[in-house]
Amino acid sequence: MKKSVPRAGWVKPFPPRVSAAFSYRMHTLLATNHAYRWLATRLERAPRAYRAFTAVERASKERLYGCRMCGQCALPTTGYACPMTCPKQLRNGPCGGVFPDGRCEVQPEMRCVWVIAHERATRAGHGSDLNLLQRPVDHREHNRSSWVNYWLGRDDALATPQQPRPRLPIAKEEASR
Ligand code: SF4
Repeated sequence: MKKSVPRAGWVKPFPPRVSAAFSYRMHTLLATNHAYRWLATRLERAPRAYRAFTAVERASKERLYGCRMCGQCALPTTGYACPMTCPKQLRNGPCGGVFPDGRCEVQPEMRCVWVIAHERATRAGHGSDLNLLQRPVDHREHNRSSWVNYWLGRDDALATPQQPRPRLPIAKEEASR
C-alpha cells in the first residue's frame, strides 16, 4: 500500500495542548464584563497597545490551540479545537473526505480537527455546541484580536441560534404484505 505523506504548505490540523475542561474554565475568567469592555475600548484607541495586546494573544493561542488569528474565535463552540487549522478551514464540521478512522484527507498523518473537536466537546458535556451553524469568516478581521472583538460584542452573531433538529420522516411499513 502506498504510504501517505503530509502535504507541505497546507495548514495542518492542530491537536490542542490543553484540555477542553481547562479551556472552558479559562473562558469563564475571560467572559465579557464591564472591565474587559473598558479595556477593549481603550486598546482600540491606542494602536501600539493594541498591537502589543494582539501579539500576546497570538503567542498564547498559537501555542495552545494552533490559532491562526482569524479574529472571530470559534473555540468556545468547538471543544477548543481551532477549525481554522483544518486544511480546508471548514467552520461547520468535517468535509466528506475524512477517513473512517478519523484521519484528515489532506494531511493523512494527522487526525481531522473536527474529529478532535467532537471528542473534546462531547467529553466536556458541550457536544450540542457542534449543532450551531457558524457564519462565514469575515477576512477583514484577520490578525485582529479576537478577545477585543469578543469583549466588544462583535462575536454575538458568529453562530446562528441553535435550532431543534428536524424530525426525519419515518418509513411506513406497507399495509399489505
Ligand atoms: S481566533 Fe480564529 S484562528 Fe484563532 S483559535 Fe479562534 S477560531 Fe482559531
